[in-house]
Amino acid sequence: MAVEAVVIAPGVDDPWLNAQRQFDAAADVLQLDPGVRAILREPQRQLIVNFPVKMDDGSVRLFEGYRVQHSLNRGPTKGGIRYHPQVTLNEVKALAMWMTWKCAVAGIPFGGAKGGVIVDPQPLSRSELERLTRRYASEISVVMGPERDIPAPDVNTTPQVMAWIMDTVSMSRGYSVPAVVTGKPLSVGGSQGRNAATGRGCAMVAQQACSRLGLDPRQLTVAVQGFGNVGSNAAGLMAEGGFSVLAVSDVYGGIHSERGLDIPALARHVQSTGSVVGFPGTLPLTNAELLELPVDVLVPAALENQITARNAGQVQAKLILEGANGPTTPDADEILLRRGVTVVPDIVANAGGVIVSYFEWVQDLQSFFWEEGEINQRLEQILTRAFTSSWEASERLSVPLRLGAYAVAVERVAEATRDRGLYP
Ligand code: NAD
Repeated sequence: MAVEAVVIAPGVDDPWLNAQRQFDAAADVLQLDPGVRAILREPQRQLIVNFPVKMDDGSVRLFEGYRVQHSLNRGPTKGGIRYHPQVTLNEVKALAMWMTWKCAVAGIPFGGAKGGVIVDPQPLSRSELERLTRRYASEISVVMGPERDIPAPDVNTTPQVMAWIMDTVSMSRGYSVPAVVTGKPLSVGGSQGRNAATGRGCAMVAQQACSRLGLDPRQLTVAVQGFGNVGSNAAGLMAEGGFSVLAVSDVYGGIHSERGLDIPALARHVQSTGSVVGFPGTLPLTNAELLELPVDVLVPAALENQITARNAGQVQAKLILEGANGPTTPDADEILLRRGVTVVPDIVANAGGVIVSYFEWVQDLQSFFWEEGEINQRLEQILTRAFTSSWEASERLSVPLRLGAYAVAVERVAEATRDRGLYP
């Protein structure tokens, strides 16, 4: 099946420059001390690895990968690993910085990190993918560990990939180290509820945003871009919560039905065909059309730079929930603000994943596992706190919700930075 579009235009909307611009806005609002500002504006550590993988035909291919740790001040670093042909160091730096703010606004004791490998995993065989994962894990193991840096899934990485990372680290240590990575299968120390956690968090935040805005979910229509881990779970749980999901898309294209989509049936269609495209009873549409559809709520849950200065004026939704990281550029934010669109920022809207990853890490360290009900309840508690403190900060400071959330997050990291002082 043909891929519909190349999403990230390098240099045009550089995610790292956007991340720094978002940070600068918060630093200005907080009147951050210049020294602390300089520290938090750059990643603390960046590792670039070039590593060989033996392919099934006997040839050797060299791959480039990254692991960036943005801030270690509030605890070990945490963040996913992405496999994608358009991964760049600047993208990984941005994703690592966003993880720092996400963990801080959620009040969980981690700094931010992210990893990535420049690879299209689709054409790889399972054993090629396993060898690539194990060698990359081995290369970044110099900075990884339960008390140092704990990866998790991101675009194109799965619980199976996490299990291979856990096994690779465990083999070199000589004993099982489940807490080195989260998002693992249950059989090797994964947590109940982790797989759906990011989408579940989006659906919880959707309810909270509606209640703040005086909207009834049963009257609202939704479009979701991306039908992977985040998009499919967000769509399913939002539909269960009363919203009508009219359109979804993936890298191959989108589908639309005015009557609303049956998400469990769509998930089965995706499992058997590999895409949402061609789901019976729906009309096709492109990803660009989906973003401009006349719906009430838009959930970008694919990649960054989807809502930009070029299309923000045409977005018709009144509420945007950022399931993806960095889907809205700062220029687009300004246009949406002028048009009265509420944007629930990524660091709150998709924080459910890292919150349950935190639970998984705690369970692994204690070898004591919790029931799913308890996990979802604790998730809701933490997310509600994060959403409420962001909303209240945005009202107190008279700034948009993203800046309110950033003000809370950046102040927490700045406080930890000041309290620790400068070494030596
Ligand atoms: P995934 O690999 O499970 O799914 C990605 C989805 O996006 C797929 O449906 C894919 O087809 C689609 N997609 C890819 N390129 C596209 C394009 N060019 N146009 C339209 N759709 C495209 O990944 P995921 O884990 O669901 O991650 C999606 C987003 O959510 C990313 O921004 C990621 O950083 C963010 N996120 C993920 C988690 C998590 O727990 N997995 C947590 C927080 C944030």
